[in-house]
Amino acid sequence: MESFGGELFGGRFRPDLLDPVPGPFPGLDADSEAFLARLRDFCTGKVDGALIERDGRIPDEVIAGLKDIGAFRIKIPREYGGLGLPGLCYLRALQVVNTTHSALGELLAAHQAIGLPQPVLLFGTDEQKREFLPRCAREISAFTLTEPDIGNDPFRMRTTAVPGPAGSYTLNGVKSWVTNGVLADLIVVMAMVPEAGMTAFVVEARSPGVTVEHRGEFLGLRGLENGVVRLHDVVVPASHRIGDEGKGLEVALAAQDTGRLSLPSVCAAAAKWSLKIAREWSRVRVQWDRPIGEHEAVAAKISFIAATAFALEAIVEITGRHADNGANTHMEAELAKLFASEKAWQVADELLQIRGGRGFETAASAAARGERGVPVEQLLRDLRVGRIFDGSTEALRGFIAAEALEVPESAVAPAEPAALDDFGPLAAHLRFVERTCRNVAQHVAHGRSRWADDLPQRQLFLGRLVDITAELYAMSVSCVYAKTRAETAVALADAFCHQSRLRVAELFGRLWANTDDHDRALSTGVLADRYRWLEEGILDPSIEGPWIADPPPGPSQHENLHRRVA
Ligand SMILES: Cc1cc2nc3c(=O)[nH]c(=O)nc-3n(C[C@H](O)[C@H](O)[C@H](O)COP(=O)(O)OP(=O)(O)OC[C@H]3O[C@@H](n4cnc5c(N)ncnc54)[C@H](O)[C@@H]3O)c2cc1C
Repeated sequence: MESFGGELFGGRFRPDLLDPVPGPFPGLDADSEAFLARLRDFCTGKVDGALIERDGRIPDEVIAGLKDIGAFRIKIPREYGGLGLPGLCYLRALQVVNTTHSALGELLAAHQAIGLPQPVLLFGTDEQKREFLPRCAREISAFTLTEPDIGNDPFRMRTTAVPGPAGSYTLNGVKSWVTNGVLADLIVVMAMVPEAGMTAFVVEARSPGVTVEHRGEFLGLRGLENGVVRLHDVVVPASHRIGDEGKGLEVALAAQDTGRLSLPSVCAAAAKWSLKIAREWSRVRVQWDRPIGEHEAVAAKISFIAATAFALEAIVEITGRHADNGANTHMEAELAKLFASEKAWQVADELLQIRGGRGFETAASAAARGERGVPVEQLLRDLRVGRIFDGSTEALRGFIAAEALEVPESAVAPAEPAALDDFGPLAAHLRFVERTCRNVAQHVAHGRSRWADDLPQRQLFLGRLVDITAELYAMSVSCVYAKTRAETAVALADAFCHQSRLRVAELFGRLWANTDDHDRALSTGVLADRYRWLEEGILDPSIEGPWIADPPPGPSQHENLHRRVA
């Protein structure tokens, strides 16, 4: 099925694939709005984000309360005990919980974006849907692909699932960084079936042989129930296999596809909150006789935060509505994740700068000395992992480029200029998108003729073209979104497009004039120990141990840290 993002890479600008946007607008259906109101009331009245940050743990009663209002079953169809609400309602719910505390967003997203409901809905048999979906309405699920030796490259998987009697499988392996792993009742486990390949299974967390060996602690996302899960001789019935043997990666990728807008939504929420803080603070903080917001250097940061917050919201709202309407949003979701995680990080960094010394201080410390506790340093810490998990920025650039390269050259045909009359002053930006996507396609063709089969290895060249396309996508949805919102939205879209066009020009500038060859050569020298002398005079505070753990097989030697929340 053709998609706006896919067509962009082919050099064809197809606004008809984005506009009109399925309504109602800007609100959602009455059931969604009622649920979101309940969720807002719950988060405002019953959840203390500062307490979660202090204790590094979400209180059980908060998890139970979220279950009661249906926050774990937003998209599960009603016939299976879910709320049956659209994906966009789930994305907006993430914004509510995430701005209460980020660990709540991860709790809900790990369950609903990549956890059990999605794979079962997409690949489960009728029987599996009847068995698991009603359970997913109250029980928590997790998804495990990563192992100590596999990160972005899933083909190094060591966990095995060996077929046994009566179609059962015996699973052995160790999975790392399993979000929700500490609390999960049900875990989607990716394991290798000999000769068939990667396969997806549902494992009951209370099965004999399942042990949560370690609860992770991270730079941010305090309260995340993320752990190392060991599977030792865990017997799983055939009825718990999702999809065919050897189709695990397909299951994982499809589930990721539908879940991939979760992070952009979290990023949009972060940017919107940043805008609120930047606005309020920059008015009251006076330095050199003026509110800091009136100093040009700060004003530029406020403008960047506002324009980017608008674009991120546009990405979520427009892509989310098209996804709910059954459109193919695979490429769009990848571009969205890449763009949103990078830009939200920059937004948080700029906000921290605007807050000055207070940006570096924890909210608890500021509150203790009698000031408003504004968790900006927490925002920065919590957002950082967004550029790493769910497909790292580098990996995503590679995936997107690989898909773009699949578009046969002959298909890169100039299209008729699109009709853009009803975009008013924003039409000029869309014309820019139209011209620039053709330019991108021409550069891809040029890269093909220059590097031939070696082109996929030119990660920096392709990465810049991917980043340009992500900017083009963000510009396009911003213009479309502006039409559906208040009149002032045009100014936000216009500002975003101007800023984005400058970034596009910089990326094009570095396409052929860059230090790529020097960087490759220098990095080769670094890895060959040529510059070790430069490391003299420092100490390395790392704790001794192997770079990559190689957990011995066999039964667990650790206490089981699994915790069940009723
Ligand atoms: C807080 C947290 C929660 C997580 N939750 C889950 C979860 O619920 N389930 C789960 O299965 N996993 C989870 N993960 C794992 C996460 O998905 C991985 O960290 C991620 O896939 C990256 O893998 P890695 O850390 O091993 O990095 P690596 O793959 O080792 O990458 C290291 C660096 O090399 C770069 N790199 C790797 N390959 C390439 C390449 N081909 N080209 C260019 N650059 C490359 C990467 O971008 C990165 O910068 C979680 C991780 C964290 C930190």
